[in-house]
Amino acid sequence: MERVFVIRYSEIGLKGKNREFFEKKLIDNILKIVRPAAVNKRYGRIIVRIGRNDPNALEERLKYVMGIQNYSLGYALAHDIDEVKKVSLELAKLEVEKGYKTFKVSAQRGYKDFPLNSIELNREIGGYIYENIPGLKVDVHNPEFEIGIDVREKEIFVFSGKKYLSGGLPVGVSGRALLLLSGGIDSPVAGWYAMRRGLELQTLTFLSPPMTTEKSVQKILDLGRVLARYLPNGLRMWIVPLTEVQMYIKENAPDEYSLILQRRSMMRIANMIARRVKAKAIITGENLGQVASQTLTNMAAIEDASSLLVLRPLIGFDKIETTNKAKEIGTFEISIQPYIDSCVAFAPKKPATKSDINEIRKVEEKLDELSDLEYQAFKKRESYRIENA
Ligand code: ATP
Ligand code: MG
Repeated sequence: MERVFVIRYSEIGLKGKNREFFEKKLIDNILKIVRPAAVNKRYGRIIVRIGRNDPNALEERLKYVMGIQNYSLGYALAHDIDEVKKVSLELAKLEVEKGYKTFKVSAQRGYKDFPLNSIELNREIGGYIYENIPGLKVDVHNPEFEIGIDVREKEIFVFSGKKYLSGGLPVGVSGRALLLLSGGIDSPVAGWYAMRRGLELQTLTFLSPPMTTEKSVQKILDLGRVLARYLPNGLRMWIVPLTEVQMYIKENAPDEYSLILQRRSMMRIANMIARRVKAKAIITGENLGQVASQTLTNMAAIEDASSLLVLRPLIGFDKIETTNKAKEIGTFEISIQPYIDSCVAFAPKKPATKSDINEIRKVEEKLDELSDLEYQAFKKRESYRIENA
């Protein structure tokens, strides 16, 4: 008898080669993130073998695997019907302790030479549980819990209880993207949602040394450690010093445009890095209307500087939803630390909220040292690697 997790994923819309690719990635990610004894594929399900590992530690790491719809705890048993009865009864007792009063047994016989077919198994095991737990009733249409039985050629899986996870797609199936990671609350959450759609992330943060200190770097790396839990191959983080670009803009462009111009510089540098690492999109934590940088016209003026697709996973979110998600994934406490990403001294007193793109381009054209300073900043990039731990 061996403990296992029975994993279910949503395969809706996944057919043929796509489905194979999805399953392969999911299994690979489970091996790297959960680090179990072994993983086996069954039709429409994945069996994670706990082996000698601590089941609680493995279960804790399961929630970092994007693409899992739900899972059950269970056992892999020999072809021994008495053993199946005994374990099924124990699992049913655990469910009854939670207050559930109705159940059914759902057996599947993948191995056709087993003497009992699925209907007979349902009856046999269901009857045994019913007889041994007073007050518990069978409800085949709407049971409060199910005991699952899956008969395979070499073993029988018995499981119960469903715990729901984030669903989505396995990290990596959608390719790679570059997350613009600030020290704020929003961008780490945006990164989480991007990963849930199967994107593998790298991050890029602009700092303003020496006004920003080592504490800001540490804060960004702490955020990276949270994101890296979901990334089977760990996280590559980029940090670029933007101070000289910011100073140049501050001194040479109208104050009201400095914010947009800085953001446009960030976008161009982000494009340089993204191209190098073969990222196909840029992700931001932008959301409509919260601040001057996030009016529709300003967002368009910023995006105009990017030739790569810019995705904004939080566009439909309320601040409260974003904050709750940040708390749930564990980035909130890090984000509210006071260490800033970019120096406030460079923020305009009265930023334009409606920037005309032609006007912005005209102003930018006159900043003849700008592209060189951007390239110098790009060359000063530092890189950190965070392992999946
Ligand atoms: P956040 O909470 O993510 O900081 P915000 O509400 O502060 O967002 P903005 O300051 O307008 O909003 O930033 C919008 C987005 O631009 C951020 O979510 C992030 O993706 C990107 N960004 C802003 N500043 C930086 C920075 N210093 N380094 C990298 N990306 C940044
Ligand atoms: Mg911010």
